Amino acid sequence: DHVDNPYDGAVMYVNEDWSTNVRETAGESTDAVLAASMKAVANQPTAVWLDRIAAIEGTSDARGLEAHLDAALRQAESAEDGAPVVVTLVIYDLPGRDCYALASSGELSATDADMARYREDYIDVIAEILAREEYADLRIVAVVEPDSLPNLVTNATDSRCEDAAPYYREGVVYALDSFARLGHVYSYLDAAHSGWLGWPDNAGGAVALFAEIAQETQAGFGSIDGFVTDTANTTPLEEPFLDATDTVGGQEVRNASFYETNPDIDEVSWAADLWSRATAAGFAESTGIVIDTSRNGWGGTARPTAASSSTDLETYVDESRVDRRVHRGAWCNPAGAGLGMRPEASPEGYPDAHLDAFMWVKPPGESDGSSRLIANDQGKAFDQMCDPAYESDRLGGQLTGALPDAPISGAWFPAQFAELVANAYPPV
Ligand code: BGC
Repeated sequence: DHVDNPYDGAVMYVNEDWSTNVRETAGESTDAVLAASMKAVANQPTAVWLDRIAAIEGTSDARGLEAHLDAALRQAESAEDGAPVVVTLVIYDLPGRDCYALASSGELSATDADMARYREDYIDVIAEILAREEYADLRIVAVVEPDSLPNLVTNATDSRCEDAAPYYREGVVYALDSFARLGHVYSYLDAAHSGWLGWPDNAGGAVALFAEIAQETQAGFGSIDGFVTDTANTTPLEEPFLDATDTVGGQEVRNASFYETNPDIDEVSWAADLWSRATAAGFAESTGIVIDTSRNGWGGTARPTAASSSTDLETYVDESRVDRRVHRGAWCNPAGAGLGMRPEASPEGYPDAHLDAFMWVKPPGESDGSSRLIANDQGKAFDQMCDPAYESDRLGGQLTGALPDAPISGAWFPAQFAELVANAYPPV
């Protein structure tokens, strides 16, 4: 049976491949306190990314889908009270993937031939494995294609996104249809993050597109169980010292240059905004939001402990915000970021946000992109947003704030993991 919230009452799957990376990094650390904190999070659940066709079968450094599901069955055997195990899979291989950035470009290009490969060699193969009798008691959450539909809302005029648009739509509908046939699979669409879609025009455009996509599927709104945010770039869960409509020097906080008039200054605001717009557009009231809290915690010594006392709006916001980036668009391996809330089903305290879970969708410590060009066979290009020496127009001419010496996206990046643990909020 298809429950309302697949995380509720379930045990979240722990990916032992990720845990092994964490333990190795802890073992190599010369800082005993940090190493202990790393070990303390080593058994947290994380999502499994199927980021290329070969990932289904498994690669030299990551087990494949069947092996993950078999491991999930073993975790189910030791779960208390016969609780089911919920496995979060990220479906991430659309033709022309990551059209507005380069770091996560994928193996498939925006062509009809590659669209056929997406359907037959990727989605059909995944759906066939998930449909096997032995996996019927697992709950599977499919996070459908981060970085895709939001780009069609805000970057539609970019030529790469223009080329990719029809394939994104067709591919997402195909994935949703394939998963909706399986009662134990739950599809969540990527809804970017507040600093991308929070502006009313973007939010309205995104929900209109999500509704259109839903209506193109065979099960309509029924094929979408919810949305995931904070995977494609992140925003802190809450800005404890700021409200978008507080006034300072006669001006609202959201008008500070950091927020660029966006009324959704933190992620619970965007989740609430998204839910109310989605349900008004036809999505069921049971629609739930999952916030990816893998790297949206801003702790450590740079975290403000009180609101600023300045009467100048810019100073007030800069001194009060826990998000310490130079710009909300700085998405690649941002220095200073930390682990956010630990994964948890049905988190309480944010009723308007209709949260199904906090989940670590992006496995913390896996790079967002390389800081310089690194040859690879996954189609990943070099994106200057990942180079700490690059001053970007998209960031108002400021340096990216990316960590140096990063490997390609998805590769284990020990220095970033150390940074995330050191700056965790809540602290580990
Ligand atoms: C990468 C994927 C990777 C995922 C999780 C993405 O940015 O492009 O290859 O699996 O992050 O780390």
